Amino acid sequence: MNNLSFYGWNQNLFQLKQSSTYKHLFHGRVAAVNKTNYEVITETGLLLCEPSGNLLYGKSLFELPCTGDWVILQPFDNNKGIIVDILPRRHTLYRRKSGTISNIQVIVSHIDKAFIVQSLDADFSVRRTERFIVQLLEENIQPALILTKSDLKYNLHQIKESLKHITRQTPVYFTSILSPETIVPVRKFIRQGESIVFVGSSGVGKSSLVNALCERTVFPTAEISRSSGKGRHTSTRRAMVLMDDGGVLIDTPGVREFGLASENPEVLTDIFDISDFVASCRFDNCTHIEEPGCAVVEAVNNGLLAPEVYRSYLKLRKESWYFSSSEHEKRKRDKSFARISDEAKHIKKR
Ligand code: GDP
Ligand code: ZN
Repeated sequence: MNNLSFYGWNQNLFQLKQSSTYKHLFHGRVAAVNKTNYEVITETGLLLCEPSGNLLYGKSLFELPCTGDWVILQPFDNNKGIIVDILPRRHTLYRRKSGTISNIQVIVSHIDKAFIVQSLDADFSVRRTERFIVQLLEENIQPALILTKSDLKYNLHQIKESLKHITRQTPVYFTSILSPETIVPVRKFIRQGESIVFVGSSGVGKSSLVNALCERTVFPTAEISRSSGKGRHTSTRRAMVLMDDGGVLIDTPGVREFGLASENPEVLTDIFDISDFVASCRFDNCTHIEEPGCAVVEAVNNGLLAPEVYRSYLKLRKESWYFSSSEHEKRKRDKSFARISDEAKHIKKR
């Protein structure tokens, strides 16, 4: 018997189930999406499921079950089932290929926290981290940055400096699988019933981290190569692992970056820690590009805000505009993009 509350089943989901026509059937959570079936964890065990014809032909591709989804199903035989309904998604990660709806790809749903995993030896990028954080916060998923391979060479001072603006709302952990004590705080950060997704390029140490968190080998990894820090193992499939004391770990295949889902100026100003400056701009609708009395631009000129952080902010804002706006708005805004593309030209060279 599985206790589904360890997998995140709760009163909210129960309520959502009540509005389905199929509320009297079993429910379960999609643990993996294979080529020909779905692996669904139910109270009685793992079932291999296929979607009902209605689901398959009545839904768009991105509406079909994804890893993490809670589904309603009709079991048959010993270990099989037909998925007849999907509970509404919350806290979902999407990837967009070109900004159009048809190219939306669902990665994983019902996620509480996300570990942005980067390795200290080579992979670390603040700009990529900011990008992940923006999308995670928009879906109300709590991000944490995990910097792996802290036993290898890296410049601690430089990394801490570059992270200053995001640490206010994103916890940062330095880990090494060679030092179990560095894993403990990460484990403590995970609560029972929470779902945690790992995002990051392959080779950064996601599988090793999952193993270290579980204190057993749940994923194969390449042997540690101290000399290079480079790994041979690459994650190729999505997988869900239950930690002993609760907490569901989900490792997605090398997700490099997401498209930004929607424009949310507040999320962006928060992430870049510029809300205080924004509040001091002379105009309420200041775009922080070239308005007189813009406190953001002033902060850059006074050295209070790093120019690269400002540029990153403008870039991400531009992208999220692009993804979120309707065609009409897009045309209108394209004109202002032209202005932004000369971004920061008026900023003094430093
Ligand atoms: P994944 O592709 O992100 O799942 O990465 P893996 O967990 O397979 O790790 C890739 C390589 O990095 C393997 O050779 C690991 O042994 C190595 N690795 C992982 N974590 C650490 C660490 O903390 N320190 C060192 N030196 N190597 C690590
Ligand atoms: Zn301004």
